[in-house]
Amino acid sequence: MANPDLVLILNCGSSSLKFAALDPGSGKEFLCGQANALGGAAAKLIWRYRAQNGAQKLSRDDDDTTVIRALVDRFDGQWSELKNRLIAIGHRVVHGGELFASSVLIDEEVLSAIQSCCELAPLHNPVALQGIQAALAAFPQLPQVAVFDTAFHQSMPDYAYLYALPYRLYQEHHIRRYGMHGSSHRYISERSAQLLGRPTPEVNIISAHLGNGASIAAIKGGYSVDTSMGLTPLEGLVMGTRCGDLDPGLLLYLGRTLNYSLGEIEQLLNRESGLIGLSGLSNDCRALEQAAEDGHTGARLALEVFCYRLAKYIAAYTIPLHRVTALVFTGGIGENSAWVRDRTTAWLNGLAYQLDPALNEKIRFGAEGRISRQNTPEVLVIPTREDWVIAKDTAQLARGGD
Ligand code: AMP
Repeated sequence: MANPDLVLILNCGSSSLKFAALDPGSGKEFLCGQANALGGAAAKLIWRYRAQNGAQKLSRDDDDTTVIRALVDRFDGQWSELKNRLIAIGHRVVHGGELFASSVLIDEEVLSAIQSCCELAPLHNPVALQGIQAALAAFPQLPQVAVFDTAFHQSMPDYAYLYALPYRLYQEHHIRRYGMHGSSHRYISERSAQLLGRPTPEVNIISAHLGNGASIAAIKGGYSVDTSMGLTPLEGLVMGTRCGDLDPGLLLYLGRTLNYSLGEIEQLLNRESGLIGLSGLSNDCRALEQAAEDGHTGARLALEVFCYRLAKYIAAYTIPLHRVTALVFTGGIGENSAWVRDRTTAWLNGLAYQLDPALNEKIRFGAEGRISRQNTPEVLVIPTREDWVIAKDTAQLARGGD
């Protein structure tokens, strides 16, 4: 179709807002961009439309609300050809708590339910809500849909999502593991089944989403049965700047013995740990690979810790799955780093994993396919498409499906 219907996707963060206009049928992107460094002197809006890049400087006062108004102006001007094709807006919302196991059309009730999840994700949900309110005001004629990062993992059984804390903390305060990156893991499970030529209910996938944020999920017949992120995105794998799993006693030690304040602990665990903390150099896997090759000890160590922790999770997820159909690498690191894939699966030789070195080198930079040797456990690389999942859910709900 020459001029397909489009869905506008909004992903509002505290210092950035990402947007894209997508054909939900093909996944083709007709516009994409982001507002960066919001609240700072370098704030700007950048976009790509019709194979050309554009930019507009923003002021220090601009926030998600004023950026959304700026988008409306552009849809009335330079992007007007797209405006009448927009059929709905899809919002990425990090936390849906236990209230949302799937995407929903936004109404007053949904807004207050998202509000009630704010205490579970104080850094993320309030900004998403602000973005939704601004989009409702700016595009009143369009149906709007919330797509939750946590929703896909609502199928986890209680023995996987409960912490071994007093049960009343779960009952009274909803403290449990929720998991994130749900749209990505869902896409990976469905796409793996397509690539393997089998129905989704018949495939059991370990999906390793390795980006600046990283999580892994065990997906049985299309349903998430375990995942590495918890109440917050801090738990689990080593990430770019987040620590992943820790001894909780360490937090007491930081506070009691080293006199860290709560704010300092939050900053340490979220922004100064993971690859950047261990290497003392960078959170960028590419930069670390280069530095490790040049003999930088911290870079080598950071990558080793990253791969070892990941391999332990992969081995552990054979337990809920019993029989693993495929291990899939995705996210910026999973899709591109042959080194990380090689080191991680080397730890898994005891489970018979073996990569084909030529395929591992070849399947990068947007390519998709198998990287394991014949007759060894299947390992795939699949570029993730969270945006397409959001667009498809949004179009389906806007057109009256559920
Ligand atoms: P994401 O958050 O999914 O965009 O992923 C960002 C991460 O992917 C960063 O750590 C990048 O260094 C990493 N990455 C991107 N391209 C490559 C590459 N060619 N080799 C290794 N890591 C890469």
